[in-house]
Amino acid sequence: MEKEFLNKLYMKSRADRIKGLSLSNVISMEDAILLKDDLHLPAEVADHMIENQIATYELPLGVAVNFLIDQKEYVVPMAVEEPSVIAAASSAAKMINLAGGFQTTIQNRTMIGQVVLKDIPDMIFARDMVIKHQKDILQKANEAHPSIVKRGGGAKEIIIRPIAADKTFHTPSFFVIHLHIETLEAMGANIIDTMVEAIKPYLEELTNGTALMAILSNYATECLATANCRIPVWSLGKGEYTGEEVRNRIIEACQLAIADPYRAVTHNKGIMNGIDSVVLATGNDWRAIEAGVHAFAARSGQYRSLSSWSKAENGDLLGSLTVPLPIGAVGGSINFHPAAQLSKRILGYQSAKELESIIVSVGLAQNLSALKALVTEGIQKGHMGLQAKSLAISAGAIGKEVKYVADHLKQRKNMNLAAAKEILRQLKEK
Ligand code: NDP
Repeated sequence: MEKEFLNKLYMKSRADRIKGLSLSNVISMEDAILLKDDLHLPAEVADHMIENQIATYELPLGVAVNFLIDQKEYVVPMAVEEPSVIAAASSAAKMINLAGGFQTTIQNRTMIGQVVLKDIPDMIFARDMVIKHQKDILQKANEAHPSIVKRGGGAKEIIIRPIAADKTFHTPSFFVIHLHIETLEAMGANIIDTMVEAIKPYLEELTNGTALMAILSNYATECLATANCRIPVWSLGKGEYTGEEVRNRIIEACQLAIADPYRAVTHNKGIMNGIDSVVLATGNDWRAIEAGVHAFAARSGQYRSLSSWSKAENGDLLGSLTVPLPIGAVGGSINFHPAAQLSKRILGYQSAKELESIIVSVGLAQNLSALKALVTEGIQKGHMGLQAKSLAISAGAIGKEVKYVADHLKQRKNMNLAAAKEILRQLKEK
C-alpha cells in the first residue's frame, strides 16, 4: 500500500479520493472506473432480493484510513449516514498505530441452533434420551446439509438447556436443545435453520414432547472477537489536559459505562457506529449483529460497557473490546451486492475470521475517539463541524451553496437548521 496517496483524503474531491485509492493500490483500475461511474445496486438484482421492491435506499460509502490490525494495513469501507463516524475511526486508528496498532483474537466460529420442545412428560427421561442418541441427532443434522460437512464444518455438539417455568412472567417450562454448528466462512443462518428443522421431528419422538420452534440463536456466544490496543500516554494530551489526565478521564468514563446503563447504551452506540458501518458495507446482517452484541452487553444481568480501558504498567492507556461477531465472508447478499463485493476487494480479507478482526478493531477505534472527545472538549465541536454540511443540504443548499452555508454556519454560535436556512436565504438575496 502506497500510503502517501491516502494523506488528507478528507480534503480531496471524490474524484481525487478515488484516484488516491487507485494510486495507493487499495483498489484496481477497474474498480476506480466502476466508482467513477458510481456504484449502484441494479434494479433487477434489487427486485429479486426482497418482496414488493420499489426502489433502492442508498447510503454514503466511505473509507477510514490508518488501520494497522495484526501487523496488516487496511483501508476500511464504511456505509453510514452519520457525518463524524469515518473521521473519528481514522483519527483513533492513527493514535493506536503509535504503539503497533490493534491485536486481535478470534474464537472458533461456532454458531448455535435451537430446537425448543414443550409439554415434556418426563424431563429426566427426555434428557437421558437426547444424551443417548447424541450421535444420531448430529448425523441427522449433518445429513440435512452435507456440503458444509464436506468443507470440514457441520454440527459438532449438543447442549441441553432446560428452561424452568417462571412464575413472575407466567411462563411454562421449556426443553431447549442447542446444536453447535461450525458454519466456516458463512454466517450460517440458513445452514443452521435447515439443520435444526431436520432434527425437530426426531427430537419430538425421542422426548415425547411437542416442538414449538427450531431456529438459530443470534446470541452468538461461541463466536467472539476481541481487539486490544495500547495508546502511548504522551500522545493523549489535548487542550488544557495532559496525557495522564486524558488517560485517567477515559478510564473513569469507561467505569461509569460499566456501572450505569444510561451511559452504557450511549457508550456502546458509539462502538456500534463503527461495527455497523463495516458490517453493512461488507453485505452482512447488521440486525443479527446488533441483537447479539446488546444481549452480550447485558450478560451479567445489567447492561454494561462492551469495552474496557485501563492503565498499563508504564502509564500507557490500554483498550479492549470483545463482541460476538457472527459475520460471513460468503452467503446472503455478500456474493452479489456490488458494494459488498467492492468492500471485499478493498479490504482484501481472506476469511471470515480476518473480517471479524477488522470489524472489532473499528469498534474499539470508534470508542476511543468518542471517549477522548467527551472527556476533553466535548462531542459537539468535532460533530457539528462535520454536521454543518448535512444541515446545509437539509436547508436546501445545492452545489457551491453547500460549502458556503456550511462555512458560515461553523462561525455561528448556534449551529442549527434555522441558522442554515437563514444563511441560505441571505445568500440567495445577494
Ligand atoms: P446462505 O444461505 O447464502 O449460505 C451460505 C452458503 O455459502 C452455504 O450454504 C454454502 O453453500 C456456501 N459456501 C461456499 N463456501 C463456503 C464456505 N467456505 N463456508 C461456508 N459456506 C460456504 O447464507 P447463510 O446461511 O450464511 O445465511 C445468511 C443469510 O441468512 C443472511 O442474509 C441473513 O440475513 C439471513 N437470515 C438471518 C436470520 C437471522 O439472523 N435470525 C434468519 C434467517 C435468515 P453450499 O454448502 O451449499 O455450497
